[in-house]
Amino acid sequence: MELPSKILIGNKIIPDLGNFLNDLNVKNNVLVVSGSNIKHNLEDQIVTSLTQSKINYVWKEIDAATSKIADDVSKMAINLKSSIILGIGGGKSIDTAKLASFNSKMRFVSVPTSASHDGIASPFASIKGSDRPYSLIARPPVGIFADINIISSAPSKLLSSGCGDLIAKMTAVKDWELAHNYTNEPFRKYAASLAYMSSQILFDQSLTFTRQKTDHVRDIVEALISAGVAAGIAGTSRPCSGSEHLISHALDLIAPGKGLHGEKCGIATILMAKLHGLDWQNIKLVLKKLGCPTTIKEIGVTDEQLFEAIRIAPDIRKDRFTILHKLRLQKQEIEDLISTTNLN
Ligand SMILES: [Zn+2]
Repeated sequence: MELPSKILIGNKIIPDLGNFLNDLNVKNNVLVVSGSNIKHNLEDQIVTSLTQSKINYVWKEIDAATSKIADDVSKMAINLKSSIILGIGGGKSIDTAKLASFNSKMRFVSVPTSASHDGIASPFASIKGSDRPYSLIARPPVGIFADINIISSAPSKLLSSGCGDLIAKMTAVKDWELAHNYTNEPFRKYAASLAYMSSQILFDQSLTFTRQKTDHVRDIVEALISAGVAAGIAGTSRPCSGSEHLISHALDLIAPGKGLHGEKCGIATILMAKLHGLDWQNIKLVLKKLGCPTTIKEIGVTDEQLFEAIRIAPDIRKDRFTILHKLRLQKQEIEDLISTTNLN
């Protein structure tokens, strides 16, 4: 089990970033990885905090999460004799910093600026240009530093994506149990319960949810961190990623650029919940109340593309047994599933 050793979540905490790193015993050059927008918005505050804490740093701007860029970041960190790589941003900076630190055997600190997926705490990195359409295993962050004020001001669809990635744990855990029963795959009850619990926060949240309230955003950030930690405890992405993630990965290939990761996972969870005999109508209602997309039209995906994604999803990962591998749906069954759940 590899778990983060220090997590700080709070409002307007950016000035404490230097102290946070000092507590993690950061000595040499810190390699900061971010996109250009985040650099533009946060550089002054971050540099002030690092300078006050007497921490040297080098800032590396990136524009995508690819294996090539992760390799460049790794080499840079080795040349600089960095003690730590800091990923600041949404998906791509966190994923790149995570994989680069894993490859260069350095520590990694996650500074999320949005709550769009559980990768802010998990050991898995989603990288383009690898030979697999799903996440690569790396190492979880040693530290997570989450400024709720910054995360609350991110575009609202990023939070919708985070909610979709959380609701996905309901079917992910069901798929894991199924795999245990059908293929004897090891099932870790504690990790499964932790991931499942992180999805349940959304049911309470949906009753009073408003995006203006930072407390709600904080609950979602904490739930995403718990889900990522569940994957760290399990040593596999199983508690966080099941058949609904396979459909999301299939859509990445079939309809590239349409919808965010968690938005696709949320919609696919409705479908997979129906197959698992869960209360899919309630899952759909909760997502709707949280302002998340519950139809493919909202994310620009067509019926034909969704059909194709469900059809090829089991082949995305043949080694990961799910309800889709058990049922091997025929054409008519896929069409019926899409029309019953009213996702179009
Ligand atoms: Zn996910």
